[in-house]
Amino acid sequence: MKIAIFGAGQLAMMMIKSDKNSEHQFIVIDPADNPPASHYATHIKTQYTDKDTLKKISETCDVATIDFENVDVSAIKFLEEKIPTYPNSKALEICQHRFEEKHFLKSLDIPTTEFRYLADEFVHTNQELREKLEDPNNKYIAKTVRFGYDGKGQSKITQHNIAKFVSESITTDVKYILEKVVDFKSEVSLICVRTCNGKSLFYPLIENHHHEGILRVSRYPNNFENLQDDAESIGLKVLDELNYVGVIVIEFFVDKNNKLIVNEMAPRVHNSGHWTIEGSDLSQFKAHLDAITGKEDLKINELKPSLMLNILSKHKSVKDLDEKDLSNTEVYLHDYHKEERQNRKLGHITLIFNDQKTYAKDSKKFLDIT
Ligand code: ADP
Ligand code: MG
Repeated sequence: MKIAIFGAGQLAMMMIKSDKNSEHQFIVIDPADNPPASHYATHIKTQYTDKDTLKKISETCDVATIDFENVDVSAIKFLEEKIPTYPNSKALEICQHRFEEKHFLKSLDIPTTEFRYLADEFVHTNQELREKLEDPNNKYIAKTVRFGYDGKGQSKITQHNIAKFVSESITTDVKYILEKVVDFKSEVSLICVRTCNGKSLFYPLIENHHHEGILRVSRYPNNFENLQDDAESIGLKVLDELNYVGVIVIEFFVDKNNKLIVNEMAPRVHNSGHWTIEGSDLSQFKAHLDAITGKEDLKINELKPSLMLNILSKHKSVKDLDEKDLSNTEVYLHDYHKEERQNRKLGHITLIFNDQKTYAKDSKKFLDIT
């Protein structure tokens, strides 16, 4: 099939590379110069809303998808009228807006973090909020409702800085939600896949370690197997309600009582699933392509003990690996062909452990990477 991908970052690149038998042809659309996927497909360098491009895609491609969740909803609305387009505009619209996303989760009785819109009059008049902020056990973060990623657009809020924050930061263009900080035990994510006929498939929960809001390490297996059923029932509700096709990933906090609390959703393949390229016989990228191109018999037959390390600075990650003993372990490097910039994801390394014992002993060595 001819597949259009809006956004040509590393996710699109890995999607294209997962088509090992060259079953499909790919066109990537991205306003950037030389984005990662442009080395592997025809690249149309333009804004996502460019009318001529959208028309051309709708006339020449069989299906459209995204690698970037902030593709304009208007572009997806135009395309979905003409060709199968996944995710659909409803799912994209919800996931692009933190308030809508949390509201959606609440409407399905899915536990999520305590949240409210942050607005001027609210801060000055809400007695309950002021009382909560006075309690040092209650910590809050303000998050921009749109365009946040890798911890960007987030600020710590206290009773002392809230008034200043609101008067200085909130404009008609930029809106925030105020979210309670969860005192979590860990963070996990669930990769959910749904086919065109509505069959669902889930990967095992992945444990994720973040530092300064950026994912650093993901690992499977972990100690959260007992939460798999709860996670899948949440995943199923989300998939069915959105009439979703393809991969969507749900990020959770595991609280101190071992309960799942949804943090956010990503309507696309996800960084915490990169290990599935070598760690599974069906990678998240292939699963997404299979689902959106109408395959129905998706199965995961094999999963290997895996650990994924993000590379944010070339020199540091290589040094980290040099210092570890990696016998009985396969090492795979993925380079995104990007220029180095502060805290930019340049690539990742996946370690596949050849037996559970080595994994249990060695994977912990990587969890304290900061
Ligand atoms: P994004 O990934 O879009 O930047 P997230 O909301 O996932 O935004 O925040 C990034 C990371 O910041 C989370 O994975 C988590 O480590 C931390 N974080 C975000 N919100 C909270 C919260 N309410 N409580 C505790 N930690 C949080
Ligand atoms: Mg996140």
